[in-house]
Amino acid sequence: MSKDLGPAGASGGPAAASARRKAVAHHEAGHAVAAFYFDHAIESVTIKPGEDFAGSSISSPDFGRGFDPEVDVDAAQYVKMLEDIVVCFAGHEAEAAYRGRRNWHGSTTDFGIAADLALYLSRGSEEASALLRWRKLVARGLVKAHTREIAAVASALLAQGTLAGDDVRETIRIALGIPALEELPSPSGGTTQ
Ligand SMILES: [Zn+2]
Repeated sequence: MSKDLGPAGASGGPAAASARRKAVAHHEAGHAVAAFYFDHAIESVTIKPGEDFAGSSISSPDFGRGFDPEVDVDAAQYVKMLEDIVVCFAGHEAEAAYRGRRNWHGSTTDFGIAADLALYLSRGSEEASALLRWRKLVARGLVKAHTREIAAVASALLAQGTLAGDDVRETIRIALGIPALEELPSPSGGTTQ
């Protein structure tokens, strides 16, 4: 909808700008928390205008002729691409969960990458559509299960603008109340002879 708070509807006063910034923070936090749970490398996450999730290296397929998913990707690459599709959708899902409504045009790049990956892993559009529906549901479930971590990463993004991968992991650790390694008591009698 054209009245939607998205990049193209960037109008309104400071309150609207603040609401938009919070929505973007939740969107980017959704990508980051999904990448975290799939153990994908996270370089950094930012809410700087014009930059969407560049934190992890989303697999970029080259559309070579005669591609055969059974031959041209190994099992690890196949799984990574399936996970990347969820990472793509997790931004949109986290933003929608936070705002209570969907911002379609804020996610067109993500959906484009997800569609490319799905087509790459499929033989035809029917398979690809089914795959995309499935991964979207997985993203929705992941976002729902990790609301606390997403809120924590979004808050950190709002405070700092950009987070390094280590900051993301640290923010999630604190949000979950997991002690840092150096806070754990050292094992007694740990010396071996
Ligand atoms: Zn995104």
